[in-house]
Amino acid sequence: MNEHASLLSQVLEAWRALPLGLYEKLFIKAVVLGVCIYFVIYVIERACGTRTDNYRSKGFLHDSMYWIYFEGGFNAFFVGLGFRSLLTAYLEEPLSFFDVKLLTPLPFFLQAVIFLVVSDFINYWVHRAEHRYKFMWAFHTTHHSQEKLTFATTIRQHPVTYFYQELSVYIPMRILGVDPMSWLPLFILQHLITASHHSQIPLNFGPLNRVIVTPSFHSYHHSTDPAHHNKNFSGTFAAWDYLFGTAVKDGIPKPTQYGLDDVKPTSLWSTLATPFRLLYQFYLVRDRTTNPERLGNRTGI
Ligand SMILES: [Zn+2]
Ligand SMILES: [Zn+2]
Repeated sequence: MNEHASLLSQVLEAWRALPLGLYEKLFIKAVVLGVCIYFVIYVIERACGTRTDNYRSKGFLHDSMYWIYFEGGFNAFFVGLGFRSLLTAYLEEPLSFFDVKLLTPLPFFLQAVIFLVVSDFINYWVHRAEHRYKFMWAFHTTHHSQEKLTFATTIRQHPVTYFYQELSVYIPMRILGVDPMSWLPLFILQHLITASHHSQIPLNFGPLNRVIVTPSFHSYHHSTDPAHHNKNFSGTFAAWDYLFGTAVKDGIPKPTQYGLDDVKPTSLWSTLATPFRLLYQFYLVRDRTTNPERLGNRTGI
């Protein structure tokens, strides 16, 4: 254990000592982490005999570009820096009364668990809102328009979506205190768990399937079948869907197709631009034939 810990700290030390800037390091981290996760998930999928042909699709290439954009620090550079400097300049002082750091006296493991539960609970309700409000739905179509799900689909999020998702956990994170995601083992574990959600790994936790999200559970959320719409919103803990009555009923046939009926972006650029076209249709043209209900019947919660 100590040997491993010292090896890990040596690797981290060597990494920190590299004469590279923040963004070069983020980019290298994104590529290395992406390749490692790809390798681990691909090997498990092959071992389980599930299909891996989705990796040979254009959609996988698009999702990989999203991975590089978010994990490689490009979003932090274009959007995050603006967001953070805005916070520092105008909101740091007024928001400082939120810094009660509720979790700080607790052991780190407990802090991590509480943080995960609270942030996942917020994530569940933000996700429901994305299927409820036209403005949010327009940007959420970027994630749902993928028809060839792979582990990389997890990060296929429009930068606008990413922005309000970050914003939604900002205040709770300040109230709770330390961000346990800065703890490396948890960071890696969390990445592997969320990456598995859109993979083909046949994970089965038995009775815990009602507590933890499995790839099979999340696959219903991407189904084109109207019987599966507005179901299985949970991110990490499936318990929220069972608690709030949005879990797909047991025994319902598995999805056979994924994506959206009306939104089919064919290029990387169109995955980013389509939400703006939808907003134009929703709010300016007020085209009643193109509304969230028609976009795959995903509203009406
Ligand atoms: Zn969704
Ligand atoms: Zn998804």
